[in-house]
Amino acid sequence: MSSLRTANVARIGETVFDVLVVGGGINGAVTAACLAARGAKVALIDKGDFASFTSQESSNLAWGGIKYMESFEFGLVRKLCMSRNHLIRSYPSTVQEIRFYAVHTRGFRHGLLKLVLGTWLYWLIGNFFTQKPRRLSAATIAREEPIVELTGSDGGFEYSDAYLHDNDARFVFKFIRAALDYGCIAVNYFESLGSKRGDDGVWVTQARDVTSSAEIAIRSRILVNAAGPYVDALNGRAAVRTAHRHVFSKGIHLIVDRLTPNRRVLTFFADDGRLFFVIPMGPRTCIGTTDTRVESPVAHVTDEDRRFVLDNINKRLRLPAPLTPADVIAERCGVRPLAVAAGNGGKRTADWTQLSRKHVVEVDAAARHLSIFGGKLTDCLNVGEEVAEHVRALGVVLPYPDARWYGEPPDEARREFWHQAKLMDLDGMTSPRSSEMLTPRLWRRYGAQAFGLLEDIRRDPSMVEVLIEGAEYLRCEIELAARHEMIVKLDDFLRRRSKIALVVTEDALREAPGLHEACELLFGSAAQDRYDEYFADRDRP
Ligand SMILES: Cc1cc2nc3c(=O)[nH]c(=O)nc-3n(C[C@H](O)[C@H](O)[C@H](O)COP(=O)(O)OP(=O)(O)OC[C@H]3O[C@@H](n4cnc5c(N)ncnc54)[C@H](O)[C@@H]3O)c2cc1C
Repeated sequence: MSSLRTANVARIGETVFDVLVVGGGINGAVTAACLAARGAKVALIDKGDFASFTSQESSNLAWGGIKYMESFEFGLVRKLCMSRNHLIRSYPSTVQEIRFYAVHTRGFRHGLLKLVLGTWLYWLIGNFFTQKPRRLSAATIAREEPIVELTGSDGGFEYSDAYLHDNDARFVFKFIRAALDYGCIAVNYFESLGSKRGDDGVWVTQARDVTSSAEIAIRSRILVNAAGPYVDALNGRAAVRTAHRHVFSKGIHLIVDRLTPNRRVLTFFADDGRLFFVIPMGPRTCIGTTDTRVESPVAHVTDEDRRFVLDNINKRLRLPAPLTPADVIAERCGVRPLAVAAGNGGKRTADWTQLSRKHVVEVDAAARHLSIFGGKLTDCLNVGEEVAEHVRALGVVLPYPDARWYGEPPDEARREFWHQAKLMDLDGMTSPRSSEMLTPRLWRRYGAQAFGLLEDIRRDPSMVEVLIEGAEYLRCEIELAARHEMIVKLDDFLRRRSKIALVVTEDALREAPGLHEACELLFGSAAQDRYDEYFADRDRP
């Protein structure tokens, strides 16, 4: 078991926190990072691994919400564009601009010219922060992206948004890691069973350590419910009433072998008229998504979902052979928690897909309780700031109100890292099959912690060996993960701290000799148990 986790479990019941955050998805992670950096005494728990629910199932896009222009939600588009720009500026190596390459079919509900003008307006709303949009003729598309099926098309357009280079769950972990650095007591696999406010005004949350079934009471002056799709259920267990509630929209993605060598997002209008993406994911391609109303937070990919995505992609790309379910390397499936007024519940909404995707932070000042509804990864920095402001207004003193709680280390640190890496010829050590140089990759994943990796490699050059073929993870990275990333199960590492489980086939993983060594580094004497548990979970229907 991670010694960091063991230490935090021992401390979580000892004190009265200013704030307990329940839920370690993006909303909970930014809340904890912002409050802890500003000097509040914070604890965070998640019933699974950090980011193991909705925040690991997104399209990995930081986008300004171009599609909301169709419903004239220009205020939302402006806000999301500013959030996107802020993220790109703050995380230049993680959140990167990428071109969206869209194909238009004659007879679509909007003409090509109108859509092209829309991209220029989108660019303007986004303060011209990205590269200019471009109109594409059919001939240009045929030359630049020959994989695209052009029958019935009169051309297309190109515009920019951004994507998360290393995956959504890894991005969330950056905030969890930051929160830990600022003294937050964060514990994964720790479930809230319910909360009650005592006569002294202190919330007591009864929590269960999922790994041992031991129960601990956690005390806090303020309770923040960031349980994503479980916000309503958790509020029910704390007897908190809110003016909003969630409805759920299921979205799936399928990951297949790389379809095009170009680093851009291919964008289409699917048969249901929604935007549909072909997104680069390391050595693979991620395709999706769908938007189906469901009643439960727990959703699965159905045959119908798979068929919808594959049929749409087969119709819109010229592939050597149509993609079939056998080509799918991994699947992602999540529900978008959408905030609606509690009375309405979205049930009577005529167009389900037009429901607003804005976040709402609802404060019950008398109960000193906050609920975070809805939201997007793109808007995460605003959520952190907004919650901190509410917490301050509720009387918690934040002694460092201007502390910067997000972003990559300053340029001087990056330059120094590059210099040290160059002196030891780090990139000369990169396997020739690797798709990316080591220096930018390590910096992007670990920021200032990457200096420690250089030290490990100087001490022992075998630290630079790739342990799992096709996964681009070095021995020293797995050692770092074991020390600093609170890994309890193998899935935490393969699916969330890294994206190995999404890009390496299960058969290749089973056969990877390095996986056993990785388990030993991560779990010591429990290595075989964790290994067996991982594959047993995957075999379960
Ligand atoms: C298909 C899809 C595509 C998307 N694409 C994008 C995109 O490209 N860009 C974008 O910006 N956004 C996107 N989103 C939206 C975004 O992913 C979500 O809004 C966001 O991840 C929600 O984060 P959250 O923290 O609210 O919820 P979650 O990530 O679900 O976190 C809530 C956490 O609470 C924990 N929890 C629940 N109950 C308890 C309990 N009793 N005790 C302890 N812990 C508990 C859960 O385990 C979970 O980890 C997408 C969403 C989906 C589904």
